[in-house]
Amino acid sequence: MTLRELPAVSRLLEHPTTARLLARVNRDLVVDACRSVLDDLRAAVRNGQPVDPAALEIDAIVGRVEARVTASRDSRLQRVVNATGTVLHTNLGRALLPQAAVDAVVTAATHPVTLEYDLARGERGRRDQGVEELLVALTGAEAATVVNNNAAAVLLALNTLANGRDVVVSRGELIEIGGAFRIPEIMARSGAVLREVGTTNRTHPADYEAAISDRTALLLKVHTSNYRIVGFVADVKLPELVALGRTRGIPVMEDLGSGALVDLSGFGLPQEPVVADRVARGADLVTFSGDKVLGGPQAGLIVGKASHVAKLRANPLHRALRCDKLTIAALEATLRLYRQSPDIVRDIPALRACARPLAEIEATATAAVEALRRAFGPEFRLSIERDTSQIGSGALPTEEIPTAVIVVQHDELSATRLAERFRQATPPIIGRIKSDRFLLDVRTIWDPADLVPHWTD
Ligand SMILES: *Cc1c(COP(=O)(O)O)cnc(C)c1O
Repeated sequence: MTLRELPAVSRLLEHPTTARLLARVNRDLVVDACRSVLDDLRAAVRNGQPVDPAALEIDAIVGRVEARVTASRDSRLQRVVNATGTVLHTNLGRALLPQAAVDAVVTAATHPVTLEYDLARGERGRRDQGVEELLVALTGAEAATVVNNNAAAVLLALNTLANGRDVVVSRGELIEIGGAFRIPEIMARSGAVLREVGTTNRTHPADYEAAISDRTALLLKVHTSNYRIVGFVADVKLPELVALGRTRGIPVMEDLGSGALVDLSGFGLPQEPVVADRVARGADLVTFSGDKVLGGPQAGLIVGKASHVAKLRANPLHRALRCDKLTIAALEATLRLYRQSPDIVRDIPALRACARPLAEIEATATAAVEALRRAFGPEFRLSIERDTSQIGSGALPTEEIPTAVIVVQHDELSATRLAERFRQATPPIIGRIKSDRFLLDVRTIWDPADLVPHWTD
């Protein structure tokens, strides 16, 4: 068969298989698939690759067209099973939303809502009003607002309060967190001028004091979310920085990163700074994420002095960085749980996973191993071990919480190959490799059946 004998697109479109496809998807998509399948065949023939003559038959060609169209209908954003042991896994979408937040998202997605509408007055309202009321009640701050994520919150605050002026930061807090968020770079983009003080391991009040001039707009403290310096270290605590700021008439802002709304040590977890506590200690502005330990949607929350929040709101960047209605709906519902729920650990999945008792994790692991034994042949070897999970998203990086893992081993498959096989399941199961062994961490698994891979090939 020669290239010239390949059927034309118009002939492919008349084939019964393509006719069936056209009832389900639009014509452009089918035409594109026909062209790309024909292009591939032509390229293969031209490059002298061995091409099975049967593959050039029209039935085979439309079969490939159908497969291509079907594959392109599958979303890139797929549901997966998180058995990594990292509860708030940034690459897997961080916090799972509370049911109340899911319901609020569905309502906001399918009905008109009072996003910027004041029902009492029948006129325009503020988008962040409901969220502000709740944040004020939960943190004791005078005012609050919300933008797309914490990176945006930091950018907005720096641009509003310090454009063209100095911001003093300790060298020990010039962090980079995942996804290329670097304090010096965000600072440069905001128009603020970085004045770094102290050293990597030690910074003293006198260092800040010496750096303050009439160009200083802000003293910034950054929570070193994802790393710890240990040993010969000193940093300036927030109250000292606030005292210094007050004396010199300079506001103090803290980028808290994760930012817990409640004291996590009450649930047997390591302590993470609590937003209300930072406000009480005098921070003029505090920024934190909505989808880290708070357990809500992606958002950047800003609480603090009413005069500063008003300036932030008046900055045109606030409009550019504003949240959509789905985020506002989910965030308000999540914050309402913190305010109203009798049992937030039960109602907020991120907290539930972080605070899950080891005995319960081990019980799920035992049930999952039984289910896996039923599904697998004897070439798979399974055992349960104790290990440690992480909260993730930069929260408490050095603190690991005890968990149970299922160790999966196979007579012929390496740990890397096993991890790949589990990723090929429907839905994909994402575990972790440690010391050359493939592990399924059960902390975030509630239904043992979720760990049984379904392979279609
Ligand atoms: C996570 C984090 C950020 C970025 O927050 P996003 O909500 O991911 O944009 C900024 N600063 C600190 C200290 C963080 O831990």
